[in-house]
Amino acid sequence: MTDKPWYAEGLRFECSECGNCCTGAPGYVWLNQDEIQKMAETVEMAVEEFEQTYVRKVGMRKSLKEHSNGDCVFFDNKTRHCQVYSARPRQCKTWPFWDSNLKTEQEWKETCDFCPGSGTGPLYDIETIEQRRREIRI
Ligand code: SF4
Repeated sequence: MTDKPWYAEGLRFECSECGNCCTGAPGYVWLNQDEIQKMAETVEMAVEEFEQTYVRKVGMRKSLKEHSNGDCVFFDNKTRHCQVYSARPRQCKTWPFWDSNLKTEQEWKETCDFCPGSGTGPLYDIETIEQRRREIRI
């Protein structure tokens, strides 16, 4: 028996900017107040106005709104880029190193099937992966 996770030797990732993770099936992008404030500053809006325009309440939590097709409200369909990239929330920054993607090799394989940047590019070491995984539990 070993305590090492299956990805102890690291994992590869390099975003190809395909936009798959920002679009498609409905989901949630969880936000804390600090993230909301940074995003509001980025789009030069007051926090209250930003929340009314872009944030929805889900129980006790807050998530970004989506378009009716499931695309993130900040995904620019023309440029295929995030409009608040520099202030993107932890959930986006830490992709694909989420608990749910790392649970088993099979979960990671499915992540790679969905995200063409996962499994390619530079190797991330276990410390970096674990640091990102712990930042937000998804
Ligand atoms: S799905 Fe992967 S490769 Fe595509 S934009 Fe998201 S992180 Fe980048």
